[in-house]
Amino acid sequence: MSTATGTPGTGTASVDPGAGEPPALEVEDLVMHFGSVRAVDGISMRIDRGRVMALVGESGSGKSTVGRCIVRLLEPTSGTVRLAGTDVTSLSRRRLRPHRRDVSIVFQDPASSLDPRLTVGDIVGEPLRLLGGDRSRGARARRVGDVLEQVGLRRQVAERYPHEMSGGQRQRVSIARALVSSPRLLIADEPTSALDVSVQASVLNLLADLQRDLGFACLFITHDLSAVEYLADDVAVMYLGQLVEQGTRAQVFDSPRMPYTQALLSAAPLADPREQRSRRRVLLTGDIPSPVDPPAGCRFHTRCPVAVERCRSEVPALRLVAGRRVACHLVADDGTGPDVRLLGTEGPPHPAPPAGAGRP
Ligand code: SF4
Repeated sequence: MSTATGTPGTGTASVDPGAGEPPALEVEDLVMHFGSVRAVDGISMRIDRGRVMALVGESGSGKSTVGRCIVRLLEPTSGTVRLAGTDVTSLSRRRLRPHRRDVSIVFQDPASSLDPRLTVGDIVGEPLRLLGGDRSRGARARRVGDVLEQVGLRRQVAERYPHEMSGGQRQRVSIARALVSSPRLLIADEPTSALDVSVQASVLNLLADLQRDLGFACLFITHDLSAVEYLADDVAVMYLGQLVEQGTRAQVFDSPRMPYTQALLSAAPLADPREQRSRRRVLLTGDIPSPVDPPAGCRFHTRCPVAVERCRSEVPALRLVAGRRVACHLVADDGTGPDVRLLGTEGPPHPAPPAGAGRP
């Protein structure tokens, strides 16, 4: 880890992660550059077994790239990814194979992630076939039927094709495919954002139920903060390729320390309309800068309402502060620091949150 002085994830686990067992995921100093685009620039994090960590940030922050590096859809420029204690970054494709079943990913848009030429049964069963193992064709079909039922579909849909199903049903198929190999870690990359608002809550509920029943760890990549509140144990906030704050959901949501986190949370719709009306919000000016040429010093300084001279030249370390990790020069070791929400406006009301979105 290049910048953190605390152990990744320290202070974020409130359940026994499995005495002596390695965490489901450890990422150390992960870097992913696409030519001159510095999409991910030195991320370290850890998810203990059975925990759900939300990775949040604006689009363009690099959060989906982190997920793709973890499942090796992208080969990271540098850094280490460990799944259940095994460094998978250095493994050849062949030696990686037995570890593939430890991690799965659900993508945003089931319409483009499911092969339209295959039946649902073939789609869901494909990982079992590719990963090998001793399952016969009949045993695989039974497993596919079982997992379809787990995601709330009838076994008979195995005979159908994706185009015969609704968006919500297709995302259930994606989830079934991701879980068929019983992974220890699920990456859920904006799993509801391409769905109709009316089915978003039911898919989130399904994920929450499956996670509780099956106990897999989850990296939940999202910009839907109400879904984070509902699903996540821990929260990591990304800005322009770097982590800027990480802690338990309560730490980050109830007392965010990093000005970017404060601004992000102040802009999220609240379920309670009275709180919504009285809440101050910070309007960040301008878009997230380009990752081709990120600002020097604190990358947030071009939009930070409380930036000082030092912020323009000196990179703030991600350090342990009041039990969570924060990267900001103005946050003291005891956690005191600016609250940019006090500078915010009591705005016109936000648009009402979609009915039921993010909450059961
Ligand atoms: Fe703002 Fe400076 Fe803190 Fe960055 S380091 S969040 S620019 S105050």
